[in-house]
Amino acid sequence: MQQPRTALVTGSTSGIGLAVAEALAAEGCRIMLNGLGTPEQIEAARAKLAAHGVEVDFHGADLASAAGVEDLVRATEARFGGVDILVNNAGIQHTARIEDFPAERWDAILAINLSAAFHALRCALPGMQARGFGRIINIASVHGQVGSVDKSAYVAAKHGVIGLTKVAALENAEANITCNAICPGWVLTPLVQKQIDARAARDGLDNAAAERALLAEKQPSLRFTRPEDIGGAVVFLCSRAADNITGSEITLDGGWTAR
Ligand code: NAD
Repeated sequence: MQQPRTALVTGSTSGIGLAVAEALAAEGCRIMLNGLGTPEQIEAARAKLAAHGVEVDFHGADLASAAGVEDLVRATEARFGGVDILVNNAGIQHTARIEDFPAERWDAILAINLSAAFHALRCALPGMQARGFGRIINIASVHGQVGSVDKSAYVAAKHGVIGLTKVAALENAEANITCNAICPGWVLTPLVQKQIDARAARDGLDNAAAERALLAEKQPSLRFTRPEDIGGAVVFLCSRAADNITGSEITLDGGWTAR
């Protein structure tokens, strides 16, 4: 990181987003946290980051609405004077075959996993362009590169995020604003624990056996990518060495998409 910057990380009260926010705080960034959670969870996250000696604030915008996303970006600009690093991370999952997929879940996944990233870009880019600096990292997924059964909305949204990443990169290629996607395979967070629980219940497995089965099916390394590994990739994309990387994908998937 070349100097203290302001980072807005969506969905940073849990899992990957919290690890990314902490990695950026450790680099001296001011942080705007966002996401759902109890007041105690939010305060614990804020305190954990503030321990790095940086300013940390929280905004509880619901990213399912365009107005919520706009409010979040404007509040970050008002609090810290601008958004230098934008990490579009918030995401939800629902699994069902297409013919059984609730339309309301489709709409929610597209809104939070894809449209929220568009609205955040739409609102944050003018400020980045005016200041001549921006680092945008979209947390996509291997499901932005390949499909899996029962995940129509998630796979469609994540493929959309990869497309959005490329267009934002092209439109800002000469503006010292980069836009890249990170594509994790399985990372053990609450989002994935729900899928492990569902597999354990379906197949009569204990948690450890359900974890092994989940990994064996997709991730050749047979281990989870760590949330802090995603944090490290984000810090790299904000480093000087990465200042000509744009429109790219960094995949941390233990070999998932290699076969
Ligand atoms: P998580 O459930 O631990 O965290 C999701 C975060 O998004 C939470 O902070 C939650 O409060 C927030 N969020 C959800 N709905 C929101 C809303 N309407 N408004 C504001 N915030 C909202 O999940 P995670 O695994 O850390 O996922 C983070 C991102 O990483 C997601 O985009 C997910 O698709 C992606 N991802 C996860 C994995 C994995 O294996 N865990 C793999 C690939 C990609």
